[in-house]
Amino acid sequence: MSAKIIDGNKIAEEIKFKVKSELTVLKENNKNTKPVLVAIQVGDNPASRVYIKNQKASCEEIGIEYNLKQLDNSITENDLINETQKICKDPSVTGIILQMPLPPQINAKKVQMLISPDKDVEGISPINLGKLLYSDIKPLVAPCTALSVMECIKSTGEQIKGKEVVIVGHSEIVGKPVCLMLLSSVMESATPTVCHIASKELSYHTKRAEILIVAVGKAGLIKGNMIKEGAIVIDVGINRVPLKDENGNPVIDEKSGKPKMKTVGDVVFDEAVNIAGYITPVPGGTGAVTTSILLQNLLSLYKTQVNS
Ligand code: NAP
Repeated sequence: MSAKIIDGNKIAEEIKFKVKSELTVLKENNKNTKPVLVAIQVGDNPASRVYIKNQKASCEEIGIEYNLKQLDNSITENDLINETQKICKDPSVTGIILQMPLPPQINAKKVQMLISPDKDVEGISPINLGKLLYSDIKPLVAPCTALSVMECIKSTGEQIKGKEVVIVGHSEIVGKPVCLMLLSSVMESATPTVCHIASKELSYHTKRAEILIVAVGKAGLIKGNMIKEGAIVIDVGINRVPLKDENGNPVIDEKSGKPKMKTVGDVVFDEAVNIAGYITPVPGGTGAVTTSILLQNLLSLYKTQVNS
């Protein structure tokens, strides 16, 4: 059996199309305002530079203004807090994203928690996260990666209600919010189990999952024999590993003399694809959807701001 591939790029395009259509009408009816996303970057980390470039392109493609506020790597925590609060109070700003990583003198969580819920485009403020606990309240925004996981599962058309779901990894941006979303009667009512570093016999859990979600950041963690036949497998992990030739030797880049790298998930795709019913590839799976959810969250914030 060969699993159906969940095409993250296609899902992302569909979400972007819907967001752009709604945004165009909203902008037309509210000519005195425009949707603006402000990204705060401290220092100039190469990884966050790539994210910023992609975010900017995605925003501009659908008519959102993207402003980068670049701050010096030596900024103090207090100064960053003041800057963030100033941007939060600016009525022309629709949403704020604090780019990671931050330098060691900054407590990232402390600063993130200061972003007001109505400008929290990443859906990670305590109020927005807290709303996930209520079955009868749909949060205005929610963590982008967790929503991306839900979109990937829903794209299969399979029923989620009552399903045995195993989530590997319990971070605040993926594992925990996905668990709450799956429990919610507004959303789905599945039966989730959450595994983490201290879970005994990981494969005991993963093997009984009708839906398996893996968000750890360890290449090769989930092998084919840990997956139930026909399961929906959502691989959130993003790992850079050396590219190997057919003999298993690293492929060397002629220009740099360094090993060439490739991006893989946490699941051994070549094994899993023969067992699962559906699977997300890496790249081209959840990661592709996550950026479009950021735009969807910004639309939700903009809608609330123009209607208030
Ligand atoms: P994180 O905060 O480091 O969380 C990783 C989680 O995995 C923790 O809960 C950790 O448990 C658990 N864990 C570690 N080793 C484990 C093991 N051997 N068995 C079971 N659980 C284990 O990471 P994150 O921010 O959630 O990101 C996870 C992965 O997703 C990374 O590869 C990241 O790059 C990727 N990511 C992808 C997207 C996307 O859009 N696709 C977005 C964000 C992140 P403990 O806390 O108990 O140690």
